[in-house]
Amino acid sequence: MDYESFEHDVLVIGAGGAGLRAAIEASTAGVSVGLVCKSLLGKAHTVMAEGGMAAALGNVDDRDDWTVHFADTMRGGQYLNNWRMAELHAQEATDRARELEAWGAVFDRTKDGRILQRNFGGHKYPRLAHVGDRTGLEMIRTLQDHGIHQGIDVHMECTVIELLKDGDRVVGAVGYDRERGRFRVFTARAVVLASGGIGRAFKVTSNSWEYTGDGHALAYRAGADLMDMEFVQFHPTGMVWPPSVRGILVTEGVRGEGGVLRNSEGKRFMFEDIPELYQSSTATNEEEGWRYTQGDKKARRPPELLTRDHVARCIVREIKEGRGSPHGGVFLDIAWIKKRLSNGEEHIKKKLPSMYHQFKQLAGIDITQEPMEVGPTTHYVMGGIRVDADSQMSTVAGLFAAGECAAGLHGANRLGGNSLSDLLVFGQRAGKYAAAYAKEQIATRADADQIEAVARRALKPFECGSQGGGDSEGPYQVQYDLQDMMQAQVGIVRREEEIQKAIDRFGELRARADQVGVQGNREYNSGWHTALDLPNLLMVAEAVAKSAIVRKESRGAHFREDFLEKDAEQAKVNTVIRCGADGEMQVTQEPLSPIRDDLKRIIEDNK
Ligand SMILES: Cc1cc2nc3c(=O)[nH]c(=O)nc-3n(C[C@H](O)[C@H](O)[C@H](O)COP(=O)(O)OP(=O)(O)OC[C@H]3O[C@@H](n4cnc5c(N)ncnc54)[C@H](O)[C@@H]3O)c2cc1C
Repeated sequence: MDYESFEHDVLVIGAGGAGLRAAIEASTAGVSVGLVCKSLLGKAHTVMAEGGMAAALGNVDDRDDWTVHFADTMRGGQYLNNWRMAELHAQEATDRARELEAWGAVFDRTKDGRILQRNFGGHKYPRLAHVGDRTGLEMIRTLQDHGIHQGIDVHMECTVIELLKDGDRVVGAVGYDRERGRFRVFTARAVVLASGGIGRAFKVTSNSWEYTGDGHALAYRAGADLMDMEFVQFHPTGMVWPPSVRGILVTEGVRGEGGVLRNSEGKRFMFEDIPELYQSSTATNEEEGWRYTQGDKKARRPPELLTRDHVARCIVREIKEGRGSPHGGVFLDIAWIKKRLSNGEEHIKKKLPSMYHQFKQLAGIDITQEPMEVGPTTHYVMGGIRVDADSQMSTVAGLFAAGECAAGLHGANRLGGNSLSDLLVFGQRAGKYAAAYAKEQIATRADADQIEAVARRALKPFECGSQGGGDSEGPYQVQYDLQDMMQAQVGIVRREEEIQKAIDRFGELRARADQVGVQGNREYNSGWHTALDLPNLLMVAEAVAKSAIVRKESRGAHFREDFLEKDAEQAKVNTVIRCGADGEMQVTQEPLSPIRDDLKRIIEDNK
């Protein structure tokens, strides 16, 4: 088998915020770094982030500090979070934000020139450092500029399809370049996975084509534990019309700037259902909610800024009970603020420029004049690779993970803005500890048999395609059937029988995926790329379904219609997925580690 070989001390798979930050840190520590990504550098998911990055800088409200951020994150995650990660995240996010600024990120400013912060769901105080509604673009631009000057080797448009092991240790990866279809072999003393999410396992999603759960599946096949896979976040506000743009995100920033949700009767339905945990911190009337969005420190947040899991479910309820918008969503109205602000139209365009253009160009709607139609969309996975909180090492030696593909920080539900800060805090840590680990290892050699086996498996769709003489099933139908099934049976509202039906179908879907055929050659062949993504999508989907069926309660993003309440026993466990010796997926529930007393007190003090 022909392939090109590359050798690095640390190999980082993924060039979003987490991967870039890890690569910068490892390179700063003096080791050689390779950075691999599926698309062009700069095009990762992170670039799409809109609303901002959470960090308790206290620039807009000086009552904010890391303890409040920590308590908000734990409450948002319904206390299933890895408390050590939540502590490190809240403590270090401020330094990471300032560091990004020092590297050239131009955040929006307060009148006295400090980083401006905005309100977001579940955050007690205005906490999101932002650049209009294009924060991710600024983050990626800054990290990329900084990183390329450090001598990091970038392998763009290259998909990693398997990790290489030497005994129990991960020692590299095999990938292929997407343009020409040639294999590449990377040897490394440490590997950091920063491959993002799994949104493409569902039909309606805000995620781009890249998010097929590759990192999760690579880690799983290499023997690592995954954790909390039942917790998939359905963002309350995605576009619903026209069909071609269904699922595209409408940032929570719209609600942070005063946008309100109404049903077809014109009612602000979010006031009707405020969870007990948030009753004391939520406004009781529209006037108070408006004052909060305008920075009145005595006012409490409007119910539109409750956590995403809750808002999404309230929207589903309105739609199911016949009070939805014409195209199966509800109305999100920011145009109404013109009644309150004389420069309302300009204000909306200035604060939400991307949303203005998105709706104008994709739906023919001027959001300064009329409401948007929105509904839930699959957005983020809280579950992922189980890691050590401090070092980000997975349960397999030499394999680290950071960002969306890692689990722990967000528990049962992520607060908006906590992902961008997660990427920087834990990207930095993963880079640091991977570099330290790499320095202690002796050089490795890739095993030719392993490489040969990976390449042969990868080329199988061409064999199936030629044997089938053009009649073999293509990968797209299998992908479509999987997405359809996950959306319908393991989506936002779940029931035992439906999850079980999905679980019962994985065998059939896997058998079909194993036999899909593609035509043509290896040069930019999107059918082949999809065929190679399929096993990963199937693996993560099965992990979601199997974790969802064992959590017999409703908590955070996991909503069981047949177990509506939280269960005190389930509050004590994480769900863990691993590959058994027989190749079968194993699911266990494992106890959370007991939280430190000082952190417990912080949570109590902030209730
Ligand atoms: C529209 C939108 C708006 C958002 N807004 C916000 C926000 O305002 N605030 C916030 O905190 N969060 C937000 N999020 C969430 C946040 O953007 C993501 O969770 C975060 O960017 C993930 O970053 P990451 O570094 O983990 O991975 P990503 O940025 O997703 O990057 C993953 C990288 O891995 C690469 N990759 C994947 N598989 C492979 C493979 N097999 N081989 C090689 N490379 C691979 C990809 O090419 C990519 O480079 C938003 C998400 C979306 C979709």
